[in-house]
Amino acid sequence: MNIILFGPPGAGKGTQAKYLVKKLNNFQISTGDLLRAEIQNKSDIGKMIINDMNEGKFISDKIVNNLIKIVISDTQKKNRLIFDGYPRSLSQAKNLDFMLKDTNQKIDIILFLNVDKETIVKRIEKRKKIENRADDNTITILKRYDAYMKTTKPVLEYYSKKSYFHEIDGSLEIDQITSKINTFLNV
Ligand code: AMP
Repeated sequence: MNIILFGPPGAGKGTQAKYLVKKLNNFQISTGDLLRAEIQNKSDIGKMIINDMNEGKFISDKIVNNLIKIVISDTQKKNRLIFDGYPRSLSQAKNLDFMLKDTNQKIDIILFLNVDKETIVKRIEKRKKIENRADDNTITILKRYDAYMKTTKPVLEYYSKKSYFHEIDGSLEIDQITSKINTFLNV
């Protein structure tokens, strides 16, 4: 089963992705993690993206799509993908459709975790204390939220028409969100 977790930064996608990985024995595909790993490894890509990442700006589709392609073509992960933070733009969403079709796969469920700006700011400030991420400060959070609204909203419009799209109140407690997700899984 391939699942997309969709929603603004701080909506809880990572937390629920980790739950789904365990439950379904799937793989979490977090483009944020893949990009942070490039920075950590001081790769050419890492050097190119470090400033934009720290400022909360979107990384180019070309870089992100190339990273994603490697994961989607991995036969071990076929039909066991949990997307977290991808796609984030309409062109990424169309690219994902193309890559999945090309590897005889499809999206089975899209889960949209919907949260308002106020809750997100509070949550990310709390997360900063725990994970110490360079892009988790209030100014960057607001930039990332605005980037989400501008670029990711059209993806929401594209996905919300699908029969396998489900919206969940992301301001609920973690366990409550998990049990709502379970009702959509049918496993
Ligand atoms: P995340 O860990 O998903 O919150 O992502 C952290 C940062 O990584 C974002 O603010 C962007 O700078 C970058 N990023 C992650 N995923 C994408 C994506 N699909 N497209 C472009 N930039 C991304």
